Amino acid sequence: MTTQTGAGHVDHELIRAAAHVARTRCRGDEHTMAAAARADDGRIITAVNVYHFTGGPCAELVVIGAAAAQGAHRLETIVAVGDRDRGVVPPCGRCRQVLLDHFPALEVIVGAGEHLRSVPVAELLPETYVWADHQLDAG
Ligand SMILES: [Zn+2]
Repeated sequence: MTTQTGAGHVDHELIRAAAHVARTRCRGDEHTMAAAARADDGRIITAVNVYHFTGGPCAELVVIGAAAAQGAHRLETIVAVGDRDRGVVPPCGRCRQVLLDHFPALEVIVGAGEHLRSVPVAELLPETYVWADHQLDAG
């Protein structure tokens, strides 16, 4: 098993894991996206979104909970892949904020084809609010 680190390096095994789940587990309108995250111990955790009109969680958020449930509390890289062969899909605004606040050093795979790249989550949210900076014990 290879652990991928370093900005810019694309973790293709992670993309394949998300694509496999998207292709085999996304059924109908309730589950349309799959996400895969690489933990710092090399493990890959996968999940799918839970669509609901009240604001069901995206696959990226479900994968955070699934990882925690498996004891993986430090995630290094994440990618989301759409069903119906849509390929890599970038995280929505809400997920970018959650990912940044939970995993400030996280790399996110975005782009398509030869433009696939791994970028720090902070680059996806320039000048953003950072939750940790506004807690009472913030230095
Ligand atoms: Zn999202």
